[in-house]
Amino acid sequence: MTDINHFVDGAVSALNSTRRSDVHNPATGQVTGQVALADAADIDAVVASSKAAFETWSEMSISRRTNIMFRYRELLDAHRMELAEMISAEHGKVRADALGEVGRGLEVVEYACGIGQILQAPHSEDVSTAVDSYTVRQAVGVVAGITPFNFPAMVPMWMYPVAIACGNTFILKPSEKDPTVSLRMAELFTEAGLPDGVFNVLQGDAVAVNGLLEHPDVKAVSFVGSTPIAKYIHSTASANGKRVQALGGAKNHMIVLPDADMGQAADAAVSAGYGSAGERCMAISVVVAVGDVGDRLIPEITSRIDDLKIGPGLSDEAMDMGALVTRDHRDRVAGYIDMGESEGATLAADGRGLTVEGHEDGFFLGATLFDNVTPDMKIYEDEIFGPVLCVVRTETYDEALELINSSPFGNGTAIFTNDGGAARHFRRHVQAGMVGVNVPIPVPMAYHSFGGWKDSLFGDTHVHGAEGVKFYTRNKVITERWPDPHERGVNLGFPTMD
Ligand code: NAD
Repeated sequence: MTDINHFVDGAVSALNSTRRSDVHNPATGQVTGQVALADAADIDAVVASSKAAFETWSEMSISRRTNIMFRYRELLDAHRMELAEMISAEHGKVRADALGEVGRGLEVVEYACGIGQILQAPHSEDVSTAVDSYTVRQAVGVVAGITPFNFPAMVPMWMYPVAIACGNTFILKPSEKDPTVSLRMAELFTEAGLPDGVFNVLQGDAVAVNGLLEHPDVKAVSFVGSTPIAKYIHSTASANGKRVQALGGAKNHMIVLPDADMGQAADAAVSAGYGSAGERCMAISVVVAVGDVGDRLIPEITSRIDDLKIGPGLSDEAMDMGALVTRDHRDRVAGYIDMGESEGATLAADGRGLTVEGHEDGFFLGATLFDNVTPDMKIYEDEIFGPVLCVVRTETYDEALELINSSPFGNGTAIFTNDGGAARHFRRHVQAGMVGVNVPIPVPMAYHSFGGWKDSLFGDTHVHGAEGVKFYTRNKVITERWPDPHERGVNLGFPTMD
């Protein structure tokens, strides 16, 4: 059993934490570690370290910061497999999926390597006689990131590379369910030359989160997690005068029109519905089958479900789907399958009762498919966050669009069709932050920004890309006059631009 601690001032430390929480290997069900849970004094110590580091880091030249980012990029690349296996061991996702997560996070580090160009801001010469005006973007200060269990490397990497490259210092509060990879990411950053205290990791639960939200020296908070907590974070951080962006949960719909290629649509629905056991905020959880699509698509999906290999994420044989993160979560998802049956949906594939040989205590659940789901059912309304795909049938495309736009969530969505006009109408009128046309999981690249609409995001800015930079910097406009030494004269009038 391993003790999993904080990372402060360039080193792993238990600080004075007295509380701990169990961390499991979802594939075996065994407790593999105990993570420290910060108390008030730990929070103060970590914030003080970040505040002290800000004094020098924010003054460091862009080229020095960039050199460190490039070295970090190389180290992360060299350690991809090690990081992926750490993720898999605590999250349960399969190795290939974890490698994909590290790769997508790495793209944000690569984006942050270009911070010199990204931070360029407008400059206007001669706005008045001998007066120049220009904008600079300065770091905000100590910023905190509070992240969910489902992407323990990628979601933190949506935040800290951009924040740090902009000159801020960063405190990461990872999920207590899979906290280890955050420590390795911090160690590698230190190895790349990052000064102590610029990137700290504070392990903990709601006590740590509330401590960060209330601390006067924390100037901005980025959050990713479930909608109720996102709402809470947004209102509490705002009430405490902090800048805040809080990304919440999702219920992502994929419309399939009758002219789509059913084989490709089924590939996409199965990949996006069951990848990472459905524990992705961009997972497809509802397929909206328009017209006669349901009858043609369901057999295509069920035949693919039959072929899925489900087992331990780190086994020698490559698996398609691993275990869910905790026993409680697996049981909660299985409870939704019971509920769907009692609500009257048609169970087309049942993942309950799956046992994986040699891993009988693992938190496994098979891929589940419900047909004839209606919008009044709980399995339609709630974010289940597991390998449960619902098919809702509609007569028309307009009904399908209306269904999506009535959802309280607005994270990702997709349409599968060969009709360019329908696709264009969809991307124009659908109410969601990320839209795929024949792409089931439209996660933006690092140089665009990631974020949803409605109850999938509270705050004004999305993460990474230009919006991430905006979030982690403050604009200052300088108006500067360097008069010709030959000119003299007092003028008491209000400064006008002439
Ligand atoms: P969660 O909301 O339970 O936890 C997220 C973070 O908040 C964790 O660090 C946790 O320690 C902390 N937290 C939990 N309860 C808290 C409380 N009462 N007070 C203060 N802090 C608290 O989310 P999760 O289960 O770890 O992750 C899954 C959720 O995250 C899903 O809803 C998923 O859709 C969402 N998610 C959203 C995105 C997105 O980009 N919109 C991305 C990934 C995950």
